[in-house]
Amino acid sequence: MSSLYAMNEASLSQALGLEKSYQAGQVLSWLAKGATDWDQMTNLPKKDRERWKADGLKVISSHVVERHEERSALKLLVELEDGELIECVMLSDGTGRKTACISSQVGCAMGCAFCKTGTMGLVRNLKDYEIVEQMRHLKEIDPTVGHIVFMGMGEPMHNLGALMSAVTWMHNPKTYGISYRKMTISTCGLVPGIRSLAELKLGIRLAVSLVTADDRTRNRIMPVNRSFPLAELKKALLLFQRSCDKRITLEYCMLSGVNTDPDSAKALSSFATGLQCVVNLIPWNQVDDLPWQSPSQAEIRAFTHELDKLRVPYTIRMSKGRSIGGACGQLATSRRNQS
Ligand code: SF4
Repeated sequence: MSSLYAMNEASLSQALGLEKSYQAGQVLSWLAKGATDWDQMTNLPKKDRERWKADGLKVISSHVVERHEERSALKLLVELEDGELIECVMLSDGTGRKTACISSQVGCAMGCAFCKTGTMGLVRNLKDYEIVEQMRHLKEIDPTVGHIVFMGMGEPMHNLGALMSAVTWMHNPKTYGISYRKMTISTCGLVPGIRSLAELKLGIRLAVSLVTADDRTRNRIMPVNRSFPLAELKKALLLFQRSCDKRITLEYCMLSGVNTDPDSAKALSSFATGLQCVVNLIPWNQVDDLPWQSPSQAEIRAFTHELDKLRVPYTIRMSKGRSIGGACGQLATSRRNQS
């Protein structure tokens, strides 16, 4: 066993061979406090802890190898048990709210042309405990982090089983007790995942990385659109809305000269019609080796002027974490022991 994180009381009881039913709750509360070692669990019998150690059972599977910080963002590089590396980020806003941006995969299979993670390809899915452990590492630095966005490396809907297991664990009042409405899953538009989330009716928020509401352009820069074109995506979003009654965020990464003209604004307006949504405009963050340009201030102003005319609700997110490579679309790693 590589990690206790993401295990519930029943599975802890079974995996550790606990004799008393309350002991699983004791282990869980040590995990909620961020335990990394059996010796910290002082209210459990020493002979049991020695046995678990001798059996090679681990409390946690990953550890932090680097920490980068700027004023409102902190990025951790986390090494997994097989040497793979992932990143997670903690963002602070002006109100004191702390949000964890968590990865769901090593790399990503979706190949969005504007995203650094997409250039890695998919290395592997994260296990549920590897998703939870990122939150554990961030909470060690700041226990008040209370919101989660699954917008780090990877496409969360492509690893939905592990993701939902991690989400359920972090929601449990005996662990982090984070309410579902404080969690957001971001997808590039994997329709089956959106439909599954709609069926669960948990109240988890949904963000869709739309980038463009024009099928031809989307096919070109987001290969997912060739399998799930905009009309199908919109149907799934309407279903989600009916079942969850939550406002959806349409993430719109602004690429200079690609999706910032008046026709793009019209297409966006028509996609948003009928959806309870807000558009989150994210000027593209410069990434070396990718052929795109960040929009100028004048380009951003002209686009928002069009959206105003069309009465499309929007916010502009000037990305935090840009200088530490922790902003949207900037996360990517290479294996530690590779040259
Ligand atoms: S934007 Fe998201 S889905 Fe697309 S390649 Fe990057 S990590 Fe994957």
